[in-house]
Amino acid sequence: MRLPRNINLQAMMNIEEFRAEAHRMADRIADYYESASTYPVKSQVKPGEILDALPLQPPADSESTGSIMADFERIIMPGITHWQSPSFFAYFPANSSYPSVLAEMLTAALAQQGMIWETSPAATELEERVMEWLKQIFGLPEEWTGVIQDTASASTLAALLTARERATDWNVNDNGFAPEAGLRIYCSSETHSSIEKATKIAGYGKNNLIKVAVKSDGSMDIVALEKAISDDLKAGLKPVCVVGTLGTTGTTANDPLEAIGKICQKHKLWFHVDAAYGGTALMLPEMRHLAAGLKFADSYVFNPHKWMFTNFDCSAYFVRDQEALIRTFSILPEYLKTATRGQVKDYRDWGVALGRRFRALKLWFVIRSFGVEGLREKVRKHLELARWLKHTIESSEDFELLAPVNYSLVCFRYHPEAVADEEKLNQINQQLLQKVNETGRLYITHTKTAGKYTLRMVIAQTYVERHHVEAAWSLIRKTAEQLSA
Ligand SMILES: *Cc1c(COP(=O)(O)O)cnc(C)c1O
Repeated sequence: MRLPRNINLQAMMNIEEFRAEAHRMADRIADYYESASTYPVKSQVKPGEILDALPLQPPADSESTGSIMADFERIIMPGITHWQSPSFFAYFPANSSYPSVLAEMLTAALAQQGMIWETSPAATELEERVMEWLKQIFGLPEEWTGVIQDTASASTLAALLTARERATDWNVNDNGFAPEAGLRIYCSSETHSSIEKATKIAGYGKNNLIKVAVKSDGSMDIVALEKAISDDLKAGLKPVCVVGTLGTTGTTANDPLEAIGKICQKHKLWFHVDAAYGGTALMLPEMRHLAAGLKFADSYVFNPHKWMFTNFDCSAYFVRDQEALIRTFSILPEYLKTATRGQVKDYRDWGVALGRRFRALKLWFVIRSFGVEGLREKVRKHLELARWLKHTIESSEDFELLAPVNYSLVCFRYHPEAVADEEKLNQINQQLLQKVNETGRLYITHTKTAGKYTLRMVIAQTYVERHHVEAAWSLIRKTAEQLSA
């Protein structure tokens, strides 16, 4: 047989080359972490710039790792926004850490597909164990069972699907949704967009999602919730589920979980708690008071991939009634029937996806490498740095806080005494955000609070130190002064 002319099979990567390149890669990764603070935090490329630098056609021939890496440095790196920079203060973090990266190398190498116990007993049982560990670290209710999902969005979708099935006696799964319209979901107007998305995917329809008003601190107004539920009952609609949040995405407000939980109990509603970011803080005994209402929750999600030093993706989802979850998702085609079914966890029945990555490995590495007290120390340090920034802003004449600092997010704006017009203040702060981000020396984002353009600075990066926060604050202050000069 003759091979087509251009193919050079000898050039394809073999095990010796793999070994050598893997060593080089380890050094490249360590160099990256060592110098992460020297890159422009927010990528400075223009839309289309990376796309235009990439060839239109895929290569027919094998290319050397050296040449791929050269293009990685030249084309890809400039288009990277450095989430692992200690001066990344934007959104919420998507933290990684050294042990997490090491575990991810193994995860890629073993490339497990842990859909059922038999396809990876270790992936299944390690997941079971680390989820039990998380319950202890965070003081979560003993009777809960956990499973790792890819994202909080997928976890919340699982919650809304299970709530739907429980409310319809497992009927929608079998017969579809049409006769069951009018099932109502409640959340606050500050709730994350993933709840609305889940109501669409799960077939409730987004018009059946009631966004309950919030109080001035951004937390759900419980009186408004009760009224919404009783109005719906009077109208013949069927309340199904309330979603409460610990640490809203805009300003990290906390909904009154205990009060919501009691309302859910009274009306027999599913109670889902979204603590995607804030949940990590519950590892600190001094923050546990926030968890008081969790005893009422049917399901709970928080993201180790945000603030717990475990690289994306890793979302911890806990449920009170694991049978309800499994009954919602369970499928059993002939090719997945195994002798061990019933004795072991087959996580394919615990969420949307069939195939599953071995995500527990990085969580295991992170928890063991930091140790629980090491994790706590880091989170405590972030909270302290946020308090420092809060006090600094409180004592600066030209800046003001715009939301309570409940975790490590500080919401503020520049407000020079001479400017009173809200429109003008919004413009100035928008300009300020753009100017500081353009320097590449930090990255912050914004939200709106009561119509005010609000700067958000989240101090939660794995390797952030006091001097990074001070440098960021100094740059923000100086840029603001230049703007009004
Ligand atoms: C970030 C966030 C989410 C979404 O998390 P994903 O894992 O990206 O789906 C959901 N809820 C809250 C409160 C968040 O902050």
